[in-house]
Amino acid sequence: MRIESDLKLDFSDVLIRPKRSTLKSRKDVQLLRQYKFRHSSRTWQGIPIMASNMDGVGTLAMALSLQTQHLLTVLVKSITLEELKPVADQLLPDYTVFSTGTSESDLARLQSILKAFPQFYMICIDVANGYSEHFADFVAKVRSLYPDYVIIAGNVVTGDMTQELLLRGADIVKVGIGPGSVCTTRIQTGVGYPQLSAIIECAEAAHGMGALIIGDGGCTSPGDVAKAFGAGADFVMLGGMLAGHDQGGGSILEQYEPSGTFDPKTQLPILNVQKYIQFYGMSSDTAMTKNQQEMANYRSSEGRTVKVPYRGDVQKTVQDILGGLRSTCTYVGARTLKELPRGTTFIRVQKQFNDVFAKSNK
Ligand code: 5GP
Repeated sequence: MRIESDLKLDFSDVLIRPKRSTLKSRKDVQLLRQYKFRHSSRTWQGIPIMASNMDGVGTLAMALSLQTQHLLTVLVKSITLEELKPVADQLLPDYTVFSTGTSESDLARLQSILKAFPQFYMICIDVANGYSEHFADFVAKVRSLYPDYVIIAGNVVTGDMTQELLLRGADIVKVGIGPGSVCTTRIQTGVGYPQLSAIIECAEAAHGMGALIIGDGGCTSPGDVAKAFGAGADFVMLGGMLAGHDQGGGSILEQYEPSGTFDPKTQLPILNVQKYIQFYGMSSDTAMTKNQQEMANYRSSEGRTVKVPYRGDVQKTVQDILGGLRSTCTYVGARTLKELPRGTTFIRVQKQFNDVFAKSNK
């Protein structure tokens, strides 16, 4: 047994220090980034924020909406050829990623999709635990099948495994174990790594090898997205922040809740209708049942099922996130998203914000 006593930080442990800036307005900030890859010879341009391959988030409707703002969507693993056929022509290959697990049937499904639609070139190989040898071997196998595709692999949280996956053929490593909004890995297993430190350490390891990382999970606000980029993430992946929208496709549940006011005549409480959408982790019981995978009896559920408030069109939320990010850049004098890490000094804090009215007003 060993104890590592270096302090590891989460988004909530820091704030970004403002700096003198010559930027006049957040309109002047450029969020588009251009990337080259370690293995693939392609180049990519867009705003490097991606919808997670979760039910209710990584949907075709989400991809069609987010691509208009140059954001990416990693489609759920369960997407079928039949579902894709009617929309494939409308999906932009630069912003559409296909995900796969590591089983033979996952690979066969991926191959049939990529064969039917050769315009797409981004693959996300996604498992909860990216530390197994079998996973690294699978990444190498996919690289040999698709030498010029952009391959994302994850999830890991340490520099050594980031480098291992890059050497085995990944262009981009996905970082995060346990920070997710509907994730219970840390409770079920005691395993995890504070997400801000995981991003800082894995980004450093990847950038040294001319490769990229995705900060996946744990963002609860536009400020957290800015902190992830400030820490060195090349892309940020969002689940919970993009859940609850029309594009996710879930059915809306209506619930009557006390408004806090009373009918003057009857003195009975006045009820408001609140709308919710179900959201769940991809290894929750709900996901396993829905996707008709038998949950192996050696494996416990590592995801929650929750109700998130219904929030309408995702475009409004996207504007909120991009507006926040532009504003962060103006606070630290970064003219572009690329300059944000250089402008970022994190200060450790014990309290992030004043939440005295947060509960009663939200
Ligand atoms: P969020 O943005 O909601 O905080 O985090 C999204 C990320 O949580 C996903 O991209 C994925 O990596 C992770 N995730 C999704 N479902 C589950 C789950 O059931 N269990 C665990 N451990 N992580 C999950």
